[in-house]
Order: sequence, then C-alpha cells, then structure tokens
Amino acid sequence: MVVQPISSYRLASLQETMAQLSKEDCHIMAGGTDLMVQHKSPMGAPAHFDKPLVFIDHLTELRGIYQQNQDLHIGACSTYSELLEHPLIPNILKKAIREIAAPAIRNRGTLGGNICNASPAGDTLPLLYLYNAKIRLRSAKGERAAEIHDFIQGPRRVNRLKDEIVTEILLPDLQKDRTSLVFEKVANRRADAIAKVSFAGSIQVDEGQIHDARFAFGAVGPTIVRSKELEQKLRGEAFPLKGKVMDAILADYDRLIKPIDDQRSTALYRKTVALNLLRYFLETRGM
Ligand SMILES: Cc1cc2nc3c(=O)[nH]c(=O)nc-3n(C[C@H](O)[C@H](O)[C@H](O)COP(=O)(O)OP(=O)(O)OC[C@H]3O[C@@H](n4cnc5c(N)ncnc54)[C@H](O)[C@@H]3O)c2cc1C
Repeated sequence: MVVQPISSYRLASLQETMAQLSKEDCHIMAGGTDLMVQHKSPMGAPAHFDKPLVFIDHLTELRGIYQQNQDLHIGACSTYSELLEHPLIPNILKKAIREIAAPAIRNRGTLGGNICNASPAGDTLPLLYLYNAKIRLRSAKGERAAEIHDFIQGPRRVNRLKDEIVTEILLPDLQKDRTSLVFEKVANRRADAIAKVSFAGSIQVDEGQIHDARFAFGAVGPTIVRSKELEQKLRGEAFPLKGKVMDAILADYDRLIKPIDDQRSTALYRKTVALNLLRYFLETRGM
C-alpha cells in the first residue's frame, strides 16, 4: 500500500490556526483518540487522512478553566486528566470522566473532542445536556455560541463550519444546593468500555413539590435524548411521585426512547435499562 504524504500544521497561536483553516479544509486534531481510530489503516500501516491535519492540542488559548459571573468556562482542549484535577469541575462530571477509557486515553482525550465527535455514547454528553452547556466557536471571521442540543446533530455530525474551532464549553447553569444530580453508565465493565446506556438526572424539590427535573439518556438514539417538554410536565408535582404520575412519566419516556440493536447491546436491553434507571432515580431521588 502506498501512503500518500499529507500536510500537517502545528501553528504557534489560535490566530494562526484559524487563519490556516480559513485557507484550507483540514481535519482538526485535538487529542486524536477518536480521529486516529477513525482513520486507521489495516495491518498497522500509518493512519490514512484524506486532507491536511491541523493540530490544536498545544494551544494554550484552548486550555483555561475559570469561573466568570455564573458561568464555568472550560477550554475545549482541556484533557480529561486536567479536568479531574481541577477544583472548579463539578464532582458529578468528574465521576463521568473517571469512567472514560483508561489513564493513557484520559491524558490525551479532550472535552471538545468528545463533543465534536458527537457519539451518542460520549460519556460527558448526558451531563452537558443537563447543564444546558453552550459551545463557543471561533473562526477568522468571528465568534458565536450554540446550545449543545443544536450543535450536535447526529452521530459524528455537528453544526460546525469548516473554518470554525470549538474554543470553550460554558456551563451556564450549575445547579447547586437542593438539587440531586446523578450520572450512571452501563457497560460491559466499569472502566475502558463504551456505554450500552447512560443516564444523567437532576431533580430539585422545594417544600415537597418538584421545582426542576431534567433527564438525559445516552446511547439510546442518534443523539442524547432529552425532552424539556416531558420535564416540564413534572413541574409542580408532589414528590415522592404518586404511582399514577410515575406510570405516566415512564410511559412518556417509553414512547420517546427508540434505541437500536448493535454490536454492544440490543434495543430491548437499552430501553429496559434506561427506564429502570429513570424509575430508580425518581424513587430514590439520587442513587
Ligand atoms: C481506547 C479508547 C477508549 C475510549 N473510551 C471512551 C469512553 O469510555 N467514553 C467516551 O466517551 N469516549 C471514549 N473514547 C473516545 C475518545 O477518547 C473521546 O471521545 C475523546 O473525548 C475525544 O477527544 P480527542 O481530543 O481525542 O478528539 P480527536 O480525536 O482529536 O477529535 C475528535 C473529533 O472532534 C474534532 N475536534 C476535536 N476538537 C475540536 C475542536 N476544539 N474544535 C473543532 N473540532 C474538534 C476532530 O476534528 C474530530 O472530528 C475512547 C477512545 C479510545 C481510543
């Protein structure tokens, strides 16, 4: 097999990187833990890329983690290992990250990469949906922000122009105090395994009534499944839920969740586990 040489760029600043992307269509490489697998060649030959590579993992502009007003800003190229060590990262997100791959991958893989890869089994995504995360993008032409559920459009499909780089993830809505927040991943083993189903839930109860409830399911559809409409129905309900209300909400999610069979699991298993996780969360208000 003849390996064609390709160009690759490792430029000194975000500005220069954006300028390059405005001139040429390139693959953006952060940690490379998804990209290298997607472009691997058989028999250990070098990975095969059909267009030039632009490396962004070294860009300090993409790595900061800081709080500004109500928002937590996370640089897109923050690695999982960095996030695990940072005091501002919520414990529940750290729990999800600890269940991603093994330390070597966590030293390379980035939050921005997990989002832009847009796998429905991406382990940070259910929580990012729950937080109503915003994705900040920049190009040589300017800057914009997108809601995560608008940005992710399908498996490996995101609303990103060729010259745009995801620079930051904003968590604008960190729920504190009286909110129970959980993340559960169901996979073949506790570490180094891709999710068959994942679930993130949060509930805030004031004086016996539900004030805010949010549920996000991973690996049960082409994108993370979250319905603000169904969540809204729970607002004002007495908590713990009465049997009839519980049955109705489970029936609603039974209709909403439409998983598929694949090499990791069956649709039936996924649906059953997803609904069990929801029921268990609502019964125990935190696992
Ligand atoms: C052995 C192994 C185990 C894994 N286990 C898990 C797991 O348990 N859970 C899980 O969720 N994932 C897992 N992954 C997948 C992967 O590690 C994560 O999705 C990781 O977050 C990808 O980040 P990255 O920086 O390596 O992305 P890259 O591979 O560099 O990029 C992924 C995609 O995002 C684009 N991209 C990356 N950053 C940006 C940016 N800032 N702006 C615009 N586009 C960008 C790239 O162009 C590419 O299309 C595993 C991977 C491997 C190889």
